Amino acid sequence: MPILKRALLTITANVIVIFVLALLARNYILNPDLLAIEHAADQRDIQRFEQALDRYRLNLEGRIKRIYAAAGVLESLDSHINWQPIVQHLAKIGGYEELDYFILADETGANALLQAGEFVDRDSSPPSQLALSDILTHVLPKLESNKRSTISGLFKSQYDGPIAYAAGRAHWSSDKLPAVYIAVRRLNQTMIPDFTERLGLSAEVISAQTLKEELQNHKVILGERTKHDTLYTRVNGDDGQALMSLRFKTAPRAFDDKAFSPTLLVAMFAVAASWSIVFIYLYYNMITPVRRISHTMQIIRQTNNYNKHLVYKNNDDLGMLVNECNELLKHVSQHTEKLSSYSYEDALTGIGNRRYFQEQLEFHQRVAKRKNMTLSAIVFDLDYFKQYNDTYGHDAGDKVLQGFAKILDNTFTRDIDVVARTGGEEFIVLLLDNEQAQVIEFANRVVASFFNQNIPHSNSAIADRVTVSAGVASAEVNEQNTAETVIIQADNALYRAKHQGRNQVSQ
Ligand code: GH3
Ligand code: MG
Ligand code: MG
Repeated sequence: MPILKRALLTITANVIVIFVLALLARNYILNPDLLAIEHAADQRDIQRFEQALDRYRLNLEGRIKRIYAAAGVLESLDSHINWQPIVQHLAKIGGYEELDYFILADETGANALLQAGEFVDRDSSPPSQLALSDILTHVLPKLESNKRSTISGLFKSQYDGPIAYAAGRAHWSSDKLPAVYIAVRRLNQTMIPDFTERLGLSAEVISAQTLKEELQNHKVILGERTKHDTLYTRVNGDDGQALMSLRFKTAPRAFDDKAFSPTLLVAMFAVAASWSIVFIYLYYNMITPVRRISHTMQIIRQTNNYNKHLVYKNNDDLGMLVNECNELLKHVSQHTEKLSSYSYEDALTGIGNRRYFQEQLEFHQRVAKRKNMTLSAIVFDLDYFKQYNDTYGHDAGDKVLQGFAKILDNTFTRDIDVVARTGGEEFIVLLLDNEQAQVIEFANRVVASFFNQNIPHSNSAIADRVTVSAGVASAEVNEQNTAETVIIQADNALYRAKHQGRNQVSQ
């Protein structure tokens, strides 16, 4: 597999594994922690609301205390209940703008009512008589049983809705004055939004029925956040009964809880894009040069041209490898040259080559001269061999040359005999100490046995098969007749054999 493909597969697998692990870590480790933090924050918001409501209740109680403290003032009023001064007094004490109404009752339980509108310009409808007696029925026993002079609480009147109240009892010397004071604030639809806005929360009162339905629809319990970032809670009154149901709109979820959120996809895309850049860089700076170098190496191997060298201009790690390869090529080139200079064998036919022939010629010359021996040479040249190649192909021609070499090898078997291929289709045999007649006979034998091999040659001008011509020369080697002279004479004889019609031996 190519490096690039392998790297691509490895890195793709890597990216996928990392993303899967990241998803698992996020979904099973990080997100549960964040959910717990979010849940705690939601609970704190609900608590904040409840505590604020409680403070509000205590605040009301504080105001009732102030009225109580002003009892002397009230006592000095006309023993006949005259509301006007009482209203003025209450206005003076202040802080009633948040009230909806004020109940004054005497010990007999008979009561009178002051509406908020009488303190400030406020649009608030008066409670019904039923609501008043409902509140008195709830508050009076509590006031009775409580040793403290003032009390406060949260209560849901079935006629007036949820309220916050504060109550106090005064003991006047005049029994004409009202003994019980109850300040009431309706916790209705308009009050809660105002109230929560000041707390930095967003809550609205909903009916008990709506609460039940929405909890079912969203499949959540009280205090548990829905998918739409809402939260439900129920506030109880001081009798333990549900005072009101609330729906909180919370801040959106601050962490990523989706399997494939845009953030994740963008991150994945960014990783893929950055790897692509790495790959493109790798491709042009490493893979392409490596391929080019490998291609050059292949050509060098196929052409045996070890003089060539690899080109890579950067001085980096690949450059080091290329330099080493070039050094190696230099060595191979030198060794090849040396090896070929050592070789005496003809690669095609396995008999001696021209170098071998030259060396043997000198050696034979020395021996022949010292021992006064005859040196003979037979020069062979295949007839119309160019046409043979043209007709049957070079490979077929090679086989013919190998066959002919074998004939020579089988014919001249003495250790001292020299058989060599000195050119394309030219062969020379050197013989020591043979009569010329005998040499001619050898030559004739070779020509005949080659003829008898009957290798078809349709383009030969003299026969239907491949033939060979031979020139023979013999001489005693001395100062005048060198070995070279013998070879030249044999060449001349060959020339004559060719002219006399080929497929023959001439001397
Ligand atoms: P002639 O009868 O006058 O000798 O004609 P020729 O065609 O044999 O002579 P020429 O010297 O013009 O051609 C020699 C041919 O030998 C040319 C070449 O095609 C062939 N030849 C030389 N070396 C090789 C070789 O190693 N293998 C093969 N198959 N053919 C070779
Ligand atoms: Mg020739
Ligand atoms: Mg020839």
